[in-house]
Amino acid sequence: MNTGRKGILIVVSGFSGAGKGTIMKRLLERYPDRYALSVSATTRAPRQGEEHGREYFFVSTEEFESMIKREELIEYARYVNNYYGTPRSYVEEKLLEGRDVILEIEIQGALKVREKFPDTLLLFVTPPSAKELKARLVGRGTEDEATIASRLNRAVEESRGIENYDYFVVNDDLDTCVAQVHGIIEGEHYRVSRNTGRIEEMRQELHSFLKGE
Ligand code: ADP
Ligand code: 5GP
Repeated sequence: MNTGRKGILIVVSGFSGAGKGTIMKRLLERYPDRYALSVSATTRAPRQGEEHGREYFFVSTEEFESMIKREELIEYARYVNNYYGTPRSYVEEKLLEGRDVILEIEIQGALKVREKFPDTLLLFVTPPSAKELKARLVGRGTEDEATIASRLNRAVEESRGIENYDYFVVNDDLDTCVAQVHGIIEGEHYRVSRNTGRIEEMRQELHSFLKGE
């Protein structure tokens, strides 16, 4: 019986400042062979410490628009005055290798991905409270006051779309949250609908066995 498992496409969304980047980093440190994190393209400027090709591919608006034209993106969206999009080739390659591929993207993109790939797993991450969300955004120290305000407004809009997701996870204690996210994904691999090939093999094997082959 074939024990190799198919990679799952996973979308993780959540308000800016919820801790998505921090959770992903810890998840990848803990399970480096298991997950592949897609690196998006964006027109926003790099934050201090961010590297081209690691956090994002930082591109000009012109470059981004030509990626759209060449159909190199699985999805893209505008978020607080910038474009963000998911390059197609990396995602397809890693899924074929059997890795679980994580897209850390906002809600419009998440819904587009699910339209194209209906078996995508959608996870939504929140902080324990609105007050803590603001404290994390301010504490990160990467945005000015006006951008923080836009991101908090966007959080209000995004909160209306949470019911489109499959799972809702609160990022209070980081390690607990990482364990929960990993547990959800692990459980997802055992869903009957994700194992139809193996189930059919089992049937065939039983059939052959009973016929004495
Ligand atoms: P996002 O990627 O969702 O915008 P980040 O991962 O950048 O959020 O996290 C925002 C800020 O909150 C960062 O300064 C990060 O260190 C902090 N943070 C993330 N998770 C936690 C947590 N569980 N408890 C306390 N602070 C956290
Ligand atoms: P940030 O500027 O904080 O890195 O990201 C802003 C928002 O854009 C976050 O909600 C993040 O998840 C989202 N985002 C990052 N990459 C992509 C992408 O490729 N596509 C879409 N639709 N959203 C993205």
